Amino acid sequence: MIHKACGRTGKTLSAIGFGGMRLPDPGRPAEAIALLHAARRADITYFDTAPMYCDDRSEFIFGEALRTMPPSPLPLYVSSKSSAPGGDDFRRGLETSLQRLGLDRITFFHIWCVMDPADWRERVRGGALAAALRARDEGLIEHVCVSTHMRGPDIAALLADHPEIDLVTLGYCAINFPFRREGVVAAGRLGRGVVAMNPLGGGIIPRHAETFDFIRGPDDPDVVAAALRFLVSDPGITTALVGFNSLAELDAAVRAIENFTPHPPEHLDALRARIEGSFNEMCTGCGYCLPCPHDIPIPQYMDIHNMIQLGAPPAAVRNRFRLHWELDPSGAALCDQCGFCETRCTQHLPIRQRLQTLAALQLD
Ligand code: SF4
Ligand code: SF4
Repeated sequence: MIHKACGRTGKTLSAIGFGGMRLPDPGRPAEAIALLHAARRADITYFDTAPMYCDDRSEFIFGEALRTMPPSPLPLYVSSKSSAPGGDDFRRGLETSLQRLGLDRITFFHIWCVMDPADWRERVRGGALAAALRARDEGLIEHVCVSTHMRGPDIAALLADHPEIDLVTLGYCAINFPFRREGVVAAGRLGRGVVAMNPLGGGIIPRHAETFDFIRGPDDPDVVAAALRFLVSDPGITTALVGFNSLAELDAAVRAIENFTPHPPEHLDALRARIEGSFNEMCTGCGYCLPCPHDIPIPQYMDIHNMIQLGAPPAAVRNRFRLHWELDPSGAALCDQCGFCETRCTQHLPIRQRLQTLAALQLD
């Protein structure tokens, strides 16, 4: 397993982290616990969970697994989260996580799921940030972190304004990296750790291996290995967080970077340019179409359109709208067809037409 320095924290994290959002059958925890133990034996050191994952069972299962972890000379780092904007609720969430995990201290605790700068201001105004810092001073949290869906420039601004944040967790992978690249670069410059969630595009990459074959280089055995190697090679990414569901998935991820020498910077730059140039009729999330005079979050809507192009079932499209982006089809109808965005789109996409398609969807 490759291990990488986590910003200025002084810690070194495994290049692949264990994401606890897709555990096998949370109703029967033995299999999930065995999977967590196998990850430990594979020298994974970063274990991420949260309330609500796996029908709210993930933290309990992590707690049980932690109590019986196989011995290892390596450190073990646990991450969890609270999305409460209010300080008191945030504190209660932290105490619940500590209790469920059976820990006195959580290494990386996240102010969770920050959607946009207004949402971040709410976490500050509501007291979540202050509660996290107080808990850190009391020793209940080692590092205060943020998990976010914001765009790269907004992430860069947040990190510059808040030196107390040690690590940021963000969605980042080979097929959407332009959307948050600026945030990753800023984190590196400012000495913060970066955890990349959804390294396989939320399963889109393996499910559409042929479509995304263009991310694979001659030495990559398959697209999953290519996607993980893309992140592991990036000096700005500390850990790629994979939501494991089976031993086979764990083995495949570990094997993908076994005996792998990370791509040098010039190779990685060429790879990024090749990937960006190979998106065919799809939005890369680069954000160059912004700003829209009606504040329509165009990259987010185009991301949903990407999923439709890839044949995502209605339930997945609904989740992408409502749960992932907190959007609704009616927001796409605000477009007045001015066309400004299309003059700037790097992919020359018919944004107006796609917004009309999205606005007409019935999510039920
Ligand atoms: S065409 Fe629509 S989405 Fe594009 S900038 Fe104009 S109003 Fe915004
Ligand atoms: S619509 Fe075009 S410019 Fe806007 S984020 Fe997507 S690819 Fe980039």
